Amino acid sequence: MKPAQQRFTALDLAHQQIDDLDSRLLRRRLQQTQSPCDTTLLVAGRALNAFCSNDYLGLANHPALIAAMAEGASRYGAGSGASHLISGHSIAHDLLETELARCQNHHIPQARALFFCTGYLANITAITALAGLGANAPQSNPGISIYSAKLNHASLIDGVKLAAAQTKAHVHLFDHADLGQLKNALAGDTAAHKLIVIDGVFSMDGDLAPVPELLALAHAFDALLIVDDAHGFGVLGEHGHGILEHFQMQSNRIVYIGTLGKAAGVSGAFVCAHETLLECLIQKGRPYIYSTATPPAIAHTLLTSLTLIEGEEGRKRRAHLRSLISIWQEELSFMRWHRTESTTPIQPIILGSNAAALAASRLLDQAGYWIPAIRPPTVPDGSARLRITFSANHSIDAVRALMRHLQEIETQVLVDKNAALL
Ligand SMILES: *Cc1c(COP(=O)(O)O)cnc(C)c1O
Repeated sequence: MKPAQQRFTALDLAHQQIDDLDSRLLRRRLQQTQSPCDTTLLVAGRALNAFCSNDYLGLANHPALIAAMAEGASRYGAGSGASHLISGHSIAHDLLETELARCQNHHIPQARALFFCTGYLANITAITALAGLGANAPQSNPGISIYSAKLNHASLIDGVKLAAAQTKAHVHLFDHADLGQLKNALAGDTAAHKLIVIDGVFSMDGDLAPVPELLALAHAFDALLIVDDAHGFGVLGEHGHGILEHFQMQSNRIVYIGTLGKAAGVSGAFVCAHETLLECLIQKGRPYIYSTATPPAIAHTLLTSLTLIEGEEGRKRRAHLRSLISIWQEELSFMRWHRTESTTPIQPIILGSNAAALAASRLLDQAGYWIPAIRPPTVPDGSARLRITFSANHSIDAVRALMRHLQEIETQVLVDKNAALL
């Protein structure tokens, strides 16, 4: 017999959670786009000026990539059918991995690359598998230490947490603006196996990590340096090869992770490292081993993406982005908005409270802009912001028009506290 009043605790808890998010202005909403990713997006029948995607080079809707995707599908079909180690590893994946390794082999001697479905998966796989190497460390000198920057991306944080749970590694969080503290911690660390994990470009602030200094510490204290260059690959460096090219670095202690759904305009990610380290990812990287391989047509499309990034077109697009960034930094310095010292296409305006960030985002929406308010836990408490991003498809005029609109709402958001109630 059924009880008269059946309890459903999970549903009650779910209601509670959502009400709580609502009351703290932290509930997020899905918005449906009705057009391809570009600088103008059709949303609920309105054409909005979008400054929010990570399509930095403006390749997501590029005719050459659309054609390559169609060609890839006709050549390789729609799906891969299995994981890489079963039967899903296509020649298209292999060709892409060879090209990705070539892009980094000036920076990582004996480099080999491994393609992943997403950056999230690449990060979790790389961190857990590479931390796991510590299980083989000599008994006389046991232990695994993972040093992770406080502002690292969620996928790195989750990779570190999972690695710590699996290996009992010691996790140390560090401030990437204060490497003295990191150096002291490394100097007193007796663990046999040490990893330093860092974002190349901080995704919510746009600043570059001090990667050369981190590499020097990795050398001095015999650590491995894992760099997630999700926002640098395609954007930084003369050929768009990313942050290692930008800083002209070279070392086989670097494990480089690039994502391919941002500047590369498609989807996926890769890990590039010394071939022996990479072999361990193939052998021990559980998320890699147990996921179905990305459709080979995607890998095929990415070969065209790489050609665009490395060639004349990529060079021109990067040069245009640099001019947008310098105009922005210079002209915004005359306004009251709190910008960051970013030299990348990520140009946030920090507002502090969730209410102020939401108000600014709403006023811009009324003016025809799509610039979401980024709130905790994506950013630290009290640092809610507008995350403005540029694409090479934005014109200088479009960027100036956005600055005019920001000027118009400046007083309302920054001075008139009632703006929060709009
Ligand atoms: C977007 C992002 C990722 C995740 O990459 P996906 O391919 O989108 O899963 C990882 N790291 C950073 C820093 C990112 O910004």
